[in-house]
Parts: sequence; structure tokens; C-alpha cells
Amino acid sequence: MEMRSADWKTFAWWVTGISVGAFFLALVLRAESQRQLESSATDTASRWTQSALPSVPDLEQVFTGSGLTPSAREQLLRLRKVDDVFRFKLYDRSGRLVLVSDDLVADRPLPRYDQSLGIGQGADAQQVGIRDKVLAGGSHVELRRHSDQPGLGVFSEAYVAVQRDGVVLGLVNVSVDQTRQVATARGALLRIGGTLALLLAVALGVAGLQFWRRLRRQRLAVNRGQYIANHDALSGALNRSSFNELLRQAAWRRAEGGPVFALMCIDLDYFKEVNDSLGHDAGDEVLRVARQRLNSCVREGDHVARLGGDEFAVVLFGSSTEAALTPLAQRIVHALAQVYDVAGQQVRCGGSVGVAIHGVDAVDPDELLGKADLALYRAKANGRATFSFYDVAMDRQMQARRELTRDLREAVSTGQLTLHYQPLFASDARTLTGYEALLRWNHPARGEIPPAEFIPLAEETGVINQIGLWVLRGACREAAGWPASLTVAVNLSALQFAGNNLVQLVAEALADSGLAPQRLELEITESLLMSNTDQVLGVLRALSRMGVTIAMDDFGTGYSSLAYLWRFPFDKVKIDRAFTHNLGHDEKVALIVQSIISLAHSLDIRVNAEGVETASQMAALQDGGCDELQGFLLGRPGPAASLTHLGHVDGDLVPGQRTEARRSLFGTIPPPLPPGRTGPIV
Ligand code: C2E
Ligand code: MG
Ligand code: MG
Repeated sequence: MEMRSADWKTFAWWVTGISVGAFFLALVLRAESQRQLESSATDTASRWTQSALPSVPDLEQVFTGSGLTPSAREQLLRLRKVDDVFRFKLYDRSGRLVLVSDDLVADRPLPRYDQSLGIGQGADAQQVGIRDKVLAGGSHVELRRHSDQPGLGVFSEAYVAVQRDGVVLGLVNVSVDQTRQVATARGALLRIGGTLALLLAVALGVAGLQFWRRLRRQRLAVNRGQYIANHDALSGALNRSSFNELLRQAAWRRAEGGPVFALMCIDLDYFKEVNDSLGHDAGDEVLRVARQRLNSCVREGDHVARLGGDEFAVVLFGSSTEAALTPLAQRIVHALAQVYDVAGQQVRCGGSVGVAIHGVDAVDPDELLGKADLALYRAKANGRATFSFYDVAMDRQMQARRELTRDLREAVSTGQLTLHYQPLFASDARTLTGYEALLRWNHPARGEIPPAEFIPLAEETGVINQIGLWVLRGACREAAGWPASLTVAVNLSALQFAGNNLVQLVAEALADSGLAPQRLELEITESLLMSNTDQVLGVLRALSRMGVTIAMDDFGTGYSSLAYLWRFPFDKVKIDRAFTHNLGHDEKVALIVQSIISLAHSLDIRVNAEGVETASQMAALQDGGCDELQGFLLGRPGPAASLTHLGHVDGDLVPGQRTEARRSLFGTIPPPLPPGRTGPIV
């Protein structure tokens, strides 16, 4: 458990405070016990004096040094062991030592002592002080320790005056054995100290427990905070920043001899559609389930991260070859491809996987991520719900794409883009009703680049807005010069609806060119309606109110084209050329085309058939009641200058090109959303 410096400080203060307190307490107790010992020694000495005075009648002679009578010797010998006294020394009033009790043992005269208390020239000032103080009626005690006398470990030498009838005879130094007393005091002290230590330990224990609990709470809070900071709240996977850190550390550890690792970038296919059609809660649920599935695919020690949106990444340790990683990539693709049960519906929302191997494809973490991303891009391009390993060719392709994007940006301003116009005919195949504007790019180095190649690129890079506007304005300007019965169809990309100004841009293109709105037709594809439907429908309605016609292009190729027919009053549907192409080959196609025409007509929607290349296709479409024909058989796209307008009718728009009857069928407000969904549901 990591303690912050503030915690350490508090703890140190506590310990210091308690230690200082204990130290002072010990000092006080020590001083008190010393005082007790001194006072007890003084009392003993006083009692000794009180018993010596009456029992030793010749005491004065002893002090004056005039000799020791046998009775005095006897009495003094007796007094040698009174209470805890084991020795005494008598000094006369000047401080000269006159008797030491130890010398009474032998039956011989007392020796002459050199010792004295504060006598002579060089007398110790302290001893002089002691003597004077005692002679004046005070007392003095010295605590001593005698290691050479076992059993008398601690004793006191107490000095008191000996006085009879108010006359000071001299002073006595009484040695009092206090070993027992000290032992008793020590026992008491130990008991007090022990109790105090116990109390202190309990107090410290309680404080420590509280402290530990607080730290634990703090740690839990910190851990929780760290978890929140490191994980994606929705899916519980690692978030982007901790993923970056993980990748950095894995690369660093590898450089230090750590395990090999690989990176997988994963993107859910059609997640946006699920989110848009079933709502964000359903989208969130898909993300949660996807994360669980990823977790169940990887091994202990591998990591799953959510990089944002529907993008996941997995860092896998211990494998660094395609052979070893392929089964895992397959497992992930398979797991993600399973049906998701959300919001009471079963949704398919598989995933694509791009793999890059550290040390093989890149060493730098950022570069590795870029390569796994490239591989993912390839997997998506390969038809989704699949996986792809990074290879060097991807870099070249990417480089080529970058160059093409750069060229495309320049193409508009340098006049490399042109518009070709393909004629549209009424079902009689003779009456020209208008043209579809089709973009052409004449690349200075690569020559003609087909729109199928550069339009997706323009969409991905956002250049389509600039190009789309150029097409719109150019087509309107061109068409304004055509006979009034002819329309011009312009293809719009979904991205052009993303901004909020499409209606205004169309209005400006019409106003600037002077083209009547009824002569402009905008072609959209189903993919546009799969996302952000309400906003798109709003824009389409506004365009429709303006008088512009709306056609659904490539009808029949999407997931649920029919559902969109219901939700927006299209003026026209354009049957995709794949149907036209198969008309002669497959009887079922003829039935489908027939059904589309019937359905559209019942909703009063006109039908165009694209890609008419043969007379038999044309005959079948004419028989089926198709309203408009377009294809190489009737006319290829060509530059504006080549248009002859052969077959156009004089006057206004060809009758039936826009019918009021169909409008009244829907009214101006489209019907409510159909129950259920319109996305890729199984
Ligand atoms: P689309 O809108 O479905 O255009 C019709 C495509 O079919 C054109 O291809 C046209 O040349 C081709 N086509 C016409 N008749 C026949 C036929 O009889 N047989 C065959 N095999 N093809 C036929 P193109 O010009 O290559 O355009 C391809 C797609 O590029 C267009 O499909 C459209 O989605 C997109 N596109 C073209 N111009 C633009 C544009 O200005 N803006 C946008 N956003 N997309 C455009
Ligand atoms: Mg088109
Ligand atoms: Mg088409």
C-alpha cells in the first residue's frame, strides 16, 4: 500500500509525540523515585541518630576523638545493623572522619583517618557545601551502586547532623541499603510502565487500524479512479490512452528481451447502421457484447482495448507468425459474426480484423498501429467479416492512394475534370427526355480514371463536396442551354448531405444558371438513407418542395430498397444495370424487374432501367412498362459539345415526367416510420 508523504508526516508526528511524551514521563518517574529514595534514606539516618543518642552515652567523646569506651563500642557495633543500615561514618563538626563502623569489628583501637569532609586548603567546595548544609540542620543524600558487594546493589549515603540538646556533636554518614526499595519501586514502575505501554499499544493499535482503514479507503478510491481513467466506461475494455501506454510498454519490454507480440485492429461492420436504425442503447449493447466476445477469444495476459466508436484493438503476447495468429484472427471474425440479440431484435454486425506483428512489420508502436490499421482497411475492402495481415504492398497502395487524393484535389482547379452526359429516353426509345451527368477525370499521367475508382476516394477524403458542387453547378449551367423539355440528372453522394447547406447550394446553382427546378433531377443511393435518416429525409423534402425531382439510383442492389420507397416520395427509381444485364439470362430477374415496375407504378413512381445494351433487353423492359431507358444501346455518355438532342420534343417538360397524382398519394408529409428496422437485420 503506498502512503502519501502527508500520511507519513502524520505518522511521524504521532510517533515523535508519543516518544517525547514517554521520555518525559520516564524522567519524571525517575526523579520521583530518586526523591523517594533520598527521603527514605534521610529518614533512616535520622532514626539512626535518634536511636544512637540515647543508647551511646559517650557519643560526644567519640566525636571529639577522646577515645572509644567499651560500652560505646558495643552500642555502636549494635547500631551498625539497624533497619537497612549496614555502615555509618562519624565526622566531627569540622568534617574530620572519626569513625567508620567497619573498623569496629576488630577489637583494636580505631585507626587515624585521613578522610574528611570539606577540610583544609584544597577542600572540595562541594564537600564543604555538604558539610555546612548538614551542620545547619539540612541533609544530603548520595545514591550509590556497589558492584563489589553483591546483594547491596543500590544504597544511599545519607548525611545528617547529630545533635544533643540543641548542640551539634558532629555529622553522620549512614549507608542505607535500598536494594529492596529500588526493586519494589522498579517493580511498581514496571507495572505502571507495562500498563502504560499496553494502553499505548492499544491506542496505537486503534489509531493504526483507523489509519490503515483510511489508507485502504483511499487506495480503493485511487484504484477506482485509476480503473475509470484506464478503461472505457461503456465496454469495460482498456481505453485509448491506456492502450497507447500498453503498446509502448510492450515494445519497450520486447527491446529488453520481453515477449513477442502482435496487434490486431478490429472494426465492427455495419455498426453505424445498427446505431442509426435501432438507437444508441442497442449500439451500446452491441459494443458490450463485442468486447465480451473478444475477451473470450484471447488468452490470459492479452489485452482488449476500445479505441473509439466501433474500433477495438487486441494486443497479443507470445505469437509472432502469421501461422500462429491466423487461428486466433479466424476465431475473432467468427465470434463477432454471430448474431447479436439486442433490443428484442437479432442483428448481424460482424467485424473485420487487421493484423500487424511487432518486430516483423514495425517496431515503433505508432507505426505498428498504422500498419494494423492498413491491414484492417484491406480486410474491409476484401468484403468485410474477414481478416488480413499487413504486407508491404499495402504501403504502396496507400502511397498510391495518397498521391491520387492529392491529384484529385488539384484536378478540380486545373480543369482535369469534365462532365459527360448520357441520354435518357422515354419507353418508346425515341423521345429524348434528358441526360445524366457523369463525371470524367482525365489524369495527366494516368489518362482516364473511371469514377468507380475516384468517387469512393473523393468520398473518403471529403473532396467529394468540392467536386459535387462543381458537378452540380456545371450540369445546371449546361442544361440551361438545352431545349426546355430536357432534364439533367446529377448524382449526389451521401457526404453532400452531411453539411447543412445542400438545399441552399442547389437553390444557388439553379438561380445562377437560370435552370427551372423541375428540370433538375438528383440521384441518390440507398446508402444515404441508411444513416441519419430523419435529417436526410428533411433535406430531400425541402429539395422536393423546391420542385427538384429525386430519383433512387441503383435500385435493388441494397439491403432493403423497398423500405425506402415507403418512407420518401421518390419521383423515380433507376433499376440497377445488373438487373438489366441479367434480363435475358435468368427468368427470375424478369419477374423481379416486373415486380419493381408494378410496385413503383402503384406508388406512382416512374421507372428508369439502366444499362440497356441489347435490343432484347430493351424489348423486355418496354413490355414490362418501364418508363425510361438508358444504356449504351441508346447512347453512350459524351461531352456536352457532342450532344445533338436528337429526339427531344419541343415545348415544356415531357408529360408525365413529374406527376401531381403521385404527390397527392403521399401528401407533402411522408408516412410515419415503418415498425421494425431498415438496416442489415437477419
Ligand atoms: P450511375 O449513377 O449508376 O451511373 C451509370 C453508370 O452506368 C455510368 O458509369 C454509365 O457510364 C454506366 N452505363 C450507362 N449505360 C451503360 C451500359 O449500357 N452498360 C454499362 N456497362 N454501363 C453503362 P460511370 O460513368 O462509370 O459511373 C459510375 C458511377 O460513378 C455512377 O453510377 C455514379 O454512381 C458514380 N458517378 C458518376 N459521376 C458522378 C458524380 O458526378 N457524382 C457522384 N457522386 N457520383 C458519380
Ligand atoms: Mg446515377
Ligand atoms: Mg446507377
